[in-house]
Amino acid sequence: MTVQLYNTLSRKIEPVPIHGDAEVGIYACGITAYDYAHIGNLRRYVMDDILVRVLRYDGYKVKLVQNVTDVGHLTSDGDEGEDKLEKGARALGESVFTTARKFEDYFYQANEKMGNLRPDVVVRASDCIEQQLAIAIDLEKKGFAYLIPGEGLYFDTSKSPDYGELAGLQVDKLKEGARIDKIAGKRNPTDFAVWKLEKPGENRQMVWPSPWGERSFPGWHLECVAIAINNLGEQFEIHTGGIDHIPVHHTNEIAQAQAHTGKKPFVQTWVHHNFMLVDGQKMSKSLGNIYRLEDIEAKGFSPMALRYLFLTTHYQSEMNFTWDALAAAQKAYRHLIMDLARLSQEKPASMAEEEKINRSEKLREQFLAAANNNLNMPQALAILNEIRKATLEDSERYDLILELDNVLGLQLRQNVAKFLQTEIYEEITDPAAEKLLQERETARAQKDFARADQLRLQLAELGYQIQDTAIGVKLVRK
Ligand code: AMP
Ligand code: ZN
Repeated sequence: MTVQLYNTLSRKIEPVPIHGDAEVGIYACGITAYDYAHIGNLRRYVMDDILVRVLRYDGYKVKLVQNVTDVGHLTSDGDEGEDKLEKGARALGESVFTTARKFEDYFYQANEKMGNLRPDVVVRASDCIEQQLAIAIDLEKKGFAYLIPGEGLYFDTSKSPDYGELAGLQVDKLKEGARIDKIAGKRNPTDFAVWKLEKPGENRQMVWPSPWGERSFPGWHLECVAIAINNLGEQFEIHTGGIDHIPVHHTNEIAQAQAHTGKKPFVQTWVHHNFMLVDGQKMSKSLGNIYRLEDIEAKGFSPMALRYLFLTTHYQSEMNFTWDALAAAQKAYRHLIMDLARLSQEKPASMAEEEKINRSEKLREQFLAAANNNLNMPQALAILNEIRKATLEDSERYDLILELDNVLGLQLRQNVAKFLQTEIYEEITDPAAEKLLQERETARAQKDFARADQLRLQLAELGYQIQDTAIGVKLVRK
């Protein structure tokens, strides 16, 4: 199957061009490691994970590369203000190194809990200074960048004829200051920093020598160019990020990469994830609605319930997080697990082999067609629910759903096993119920069905229901 994706660059849903057996290169902008990742960030990385899983299920080799921004991301997109990392570390009274590692570790732990596969390559911006510097020097040499004394090396966007193509920017209509803060000496309003110089009195922790100054550091957009080219080559298939990255960060990545390599396009398909709101509002510190995974877990919700919730909204749509929606997702997820637990235990009914295979193939295809169609996961979930009800043998439905979980990443196998263990554990913790169940087994063995029924009712009064399973009878709480 070929995956079709909405490409921000062409503004169309189109097949991702993949050449034969070649590896599909995906570059995903990572986090800026100055604070704890929140559930909005996690939504974006869950959807990246789905993209990787769909491609792998389709049989492609995928290489996912991600950066960690630990230097150069300034508080303003106009290359002004403080470095987010320097500011964050100072507020915590820590070194930038300590702060960055702490939030990086936190981020990857949260990703693991969310069921996201670890990227094949993760590179910190501060670990690839040499490569970034080499590109900056090359851009200056080729006449794409100029020095603003005291500020740094700036990219001359008038030298890139298609600058702003990704965002559909009408560059000549941009007024100075409309998008980008004023910096004296800039030739064009959209020009941006390739390499910055430390300001007097700034006292940065992260500085390196460069041809433009002893104490300097890379501009934010350069790290993604260097890391992508190093690991995926000068041109590759897919680049992902949040929609906030379209007008500045990704636009400036393209300008630098294409000027440096002389090749176009830098990336074939640009995938952008929409944002998450909380109760209809933007997440912000002042509203106190920036939730992290611990906040979700503290309220008794599992990371898989959150993942299930993410899958119910298309990645290009804005998602509104509410606790009610999460509760509904948790319920749906639990029902799915209970259903699978039952399917894993019931004896197969008889059904013609041919009919069975045809039906299950058709459902599998429908599911995959949805997932490959611009990652339409809400539809894929709807088909999953059809499979649960389909006229297939239990073991068939069970196997098919578990196989499709390679795409969903909902950890169904582990959680079904856990569920079964918990329920069995509950049986032996209630001696009164256990005794009645034993008696019922004896009555049934003696073909005393009236007595067996009576005991079943007694168990019901205690809140238990009996289930006949492949591994014997068991009690479940009603
Ligand atoms: P940052 O650490 O701020 O660079 O953000 C990491 C990624 O998360 C970026 O791709 C952002 O676009 C994305 N992101 C940030 N806030 C949200 C949000 N509220 N909803 C969805 N994605 C977000
Ligand atoms: Zn990036």
